[in-house]
Amino acid sequence: MPKIHSDVAGGVAVLRISNPPVNALGQAVREQLLDLITRAQDDAAVEAIIITGEGKVFIAGADISEFGKPPLPPALPEVLDAIENSAKPVVAAINGLALGGGLEVALAGHARVASASARLGLPEIKLGLIPGAGGTQRLPRLIAPAAAFALMLDGEPVEAARALELGFVDVVAPGDLLETARDKALALARAGAWRRTGDASATLTEQAREAFEERAREALRRQPDAPNVAALVEAVRGVFELPFAEGLALERSRFRTLVDDPRAQALRYSFFAERKAGQVPGIGRETPRREIARAAVIGAGTMGGGIAMCFANAGIPVTVVEVAEDALRRGIGRVAGLYESSVGRGSLSREEADRRTALIDGAVGYDAVADADIVVEAAFEDMGVKQEIFASLDRIAKPGAILATNTSYLDVNAIAAATQRPQDVIGLHFFSPANVMRLLEIVRPETTAADVVATCGDLGRKLGKVAVTVGVCFGFVGNRMLARRTAATERLLLAGALPHEIDDAITGFGFRMGPLAMGDLAGLDIGWRTRKAQGTRAPVADTLCELGRFGQKSGRGFYRYPENARKGERDPEVEALIAEIAQREGVERRSFSTEEIVARLLYPMVNEGARILAEKIAARPGDIDVIWVNGYNWPAWRGGPMYWADAVGLGAIAGQLTAFADREGDETLRPAPLLAELAEAGLTFRQWAEGA
Ligand code: NAD
Repeated sequence: MPKIHSDVAGGVAVLRISNPPVNALGQAVREQLLDLITRAQDDAAVEAIIITGEGKVFIAGADISEFGKPPLPPALPEVLDAIENSAKPVVAAINGLALGGGLEVALAGHARVASASARLGLPEIKLGLIPGAGGTQRLPRLIAPAAAFALMLDGEPVEAARALELGFVDVVAPGDLLETARDKALALARAGAWRRTGDASATLTEQAREAFEERAREALRRQPDAPNVAALVEAVRGVFELPFAEGLALERSRFRTLVDDPRAQALRYSFFAERKAGQVPGIGRETPRREIARAAVIGAGTMGGGIAMCFANAGIPVTVVEVAEDALRRGIGRVAGLYESSVGRGSLSREEADRRTALIDGAVGYDAVADADIVVEAAFEDMGVKQEIFASLDRIAKPGAILATNTSYLDVNAIAAATQRPQDVIGLHFFSPANVMRLLEIVRPETTAADVVATCGDLGRKLGKVAVTVGVCFGFVGNRMLARRTAATERLLLAGALPHEIDDAITGFGFRMGPLAMGDLAGLDIGWRTRKAQGTRAPVADTLCELGRFGQKSGRGFYRYPENARKGERDPEVEALIAEIAQREGVERRSFSTEEIVARLLYPMVNEGARILAEKIAARPGDIDVIWVNGYNWPAWRGGPMYWADAVGLGAIAGQLTAFADREGDETLRPAPLLAELAEAGLTFRQWAEGA
């Protein structure tokens, strides 16, 4: 079946790819494209060739149904080679989305003409890969290599106008795209001269190399463990160091290695898990949405300020409500300061900062929420305070307004019960700093109306968040699992692992920070206060707090911080203190290997994840993984706790947990029924989710 329509008129062959829905580069498209290019070489009626797409898409990339299967010839690089070396000029007429292999087709042509609505990008990095059909070699030959690198590192498509500005689109068609492309193609043919992208070298200057190397260093510093980032750096560096053909071979070999690299596979898994997390049981396209034109935030503290920024950044006007003038002024001042420092760093323009600041206003008293379509409460973490606030919101908010709480742990059902409209109440759990962290846990009580859940999902995306919908329980998904790690950390300290040994094991695993350094940074008094309120204890952390060791802010916590140093030093006083407490508590001490520390801290989290799945608090293991990667710094290249557990083997994890439970006499450590069942059956969480 023809996947490409070919028309020859006025000396130009127009090859129109027609492979709905997205004109993917499946085997038939590759074969026919190669064949048509080859035939055009000998066709006397053809002076020039245009490649374009049928419908709204140019070419959206590879055919995903061919992923993971043996490659079918011809390979895309072979087709691109024929395009680039064509004896007649080839012009890409980019009529819409050109992604991945689709953009690589265009880059192999001799000129690119785009419609104003076209969007162009190389998103492979998001799949744990790099472009594999010349993108890393051709793009830096067309535009500044540092800019090409940045584009491939980011993976987001750009508009045609931006591509023109950067230089990898030659013309944005003012009117009819094909007319413009035809003119361009004939002009090249008649001039008898066109440039093969692989021969271009004007962008490859000393200065350009320095600029690229600087960006590369920064990228490697930020993502030291990401194999795709390292491969991208190497491939782009090849542009400066190798002849074109060798550069292509280097790119190809790095691409192939990534396909099989377990870290890159985990990144690929994360990408799809994130997409899937957007699908919420019982919510669909047909579910109605509520309009969100105005927002209000209760509380101008750490979280309230950040949440207000999220709304303003998305262009939604927001009113911040506080109990008193001075708290309001402080909160709004902090937000203005954050925008100022972005302007200072050059990451935000002055106009944009002013525009966003103007979208945020403040008020004392709840009357100011009367116009809001959504109210997000971010006041103190106290059920009494929250219920009182929600009772007031119930009186003042307009009918149909969504009433959300940013609570970290509290029962959203009980908060909803303080109102006469529980169907409008939901949890929107942002993470700190709220304007930066990507995760949003949408906490869904059973009473919440479907259109509220659907609207919050859309809103999350509008605010640039990865939104995961979860059920109500203490701490929801993220904090509930974190509590297991925190408890395990306490136990391990008493049992003999030193603070720096625990932190080193966890950073060695790939987290940016260990739990104790993290506690010192956040302030140990927060957990202390919560435990006192709940009547629970953590012997080591409690003792530190009683001694006024609250962490970095008091210069002493699990570590000591001379002159406010950000990185703590080992403190012999703390180490002696822990040994003393252990003795008092009757805990026998010994040393622990790195592997054992990792197992003792992370296996109980996996176990809690299994309980969360069995209780349907999370809809799928992938949702838990998305939460941990985006909200708790779980190393992305390890996929997430449930994905990682599958890789370790649930049998091994269950066996270890049983041993921990027996040794410690702590039943919370015993394998949860779901984990035990899967371990017994030799299955993974993934197979369970897929209905095995
Ligand atoms: P915060 O102490 O920094 O700010 C709370 C603010 O709320 C204060 O400015 C206070 O004056 C104001 N406030 C208190 N009662 C009020 C009322 N009745 N009306 C209006 N304003 C009132 O606290 P935070 O860290 O921003 O936390 C706020 C909420 O967000 C808590 O529920 C917390 O559990 C949750 N949360 C915090 C984090 C975090 O890392 N800090 C992360 C996620 C969620």
